[in-house]
Amino acid sequence: MKTTLYSQPALPYANDALAPVISAETIDYHYGKHEKAYIDNLNKLIAGTEYEDMALEDIIRKSEGGLFNNASQAWNHIFYFFTFSPDGASEPSGELRKAIDLQFGSFENFKKEFVDAGVKLFGSGWVWLACDEDGKLMIIQKQNAGNPLTDGLIPLLTFDVWEHAYYIDYKNRRAEALEKLWDIVDWDVVSSRYDID
Ligand code: MN
Repeated sequence: MKTTLYSQPALPYANDALAPVISAETIDYHYGKHEKAYIDNLNKLIAGTEYEDMALEDIIRKSEGGLFNNASQAWNHIFYFFTFSPDGASEPSGELRKAIDLQFGSFENFKKEFVDAGVKLFGSGWVWLACDEDGKLMIIQKQNAGNPLTDGLIPLLTFDVWEHAYYIDYKNRRAEALEKLWDIVDWDVVSSRYDID
């Protein structure tokens, strides 16, 4: 049995660096407790199994039930929190910018459609920007721990719409919570995930 399974990476910014969009208290609970619990559960579930030496993305593609839920939630939260920066690029660039303009009409319209998809997602889940192998972009709603990796797609951006993501700072105002996230998305990170070559 491996002694070191998955560990939680330290965030590349201070816990209060994203305030007031995401408060230090929300980071403490959301990353420090919710995300930590998914990683701890993942480690317990894979210890001594065929999944122990598997890449996390492959566990997500090949598992179901409780293992899928914890593996995907562990991955999704790291992907989500590592998209943000207090001083990142405010707009997409390069090939991603061209694709957004072409497929959504404009960056502004893309942001509107993305937030609308998150607001209309009933219950807990994630709204995603993903692309296929040809670089075609799509906005996808996923319930609970869902992840576009299971559809053979490449995730580019996600907003967490579980209530635990926004209730401390925004109470029930999901639309406002999602719209404010645009202020901290680092589009250099998102653009770098879009590699269609
Ligand atoms: Mn969450």
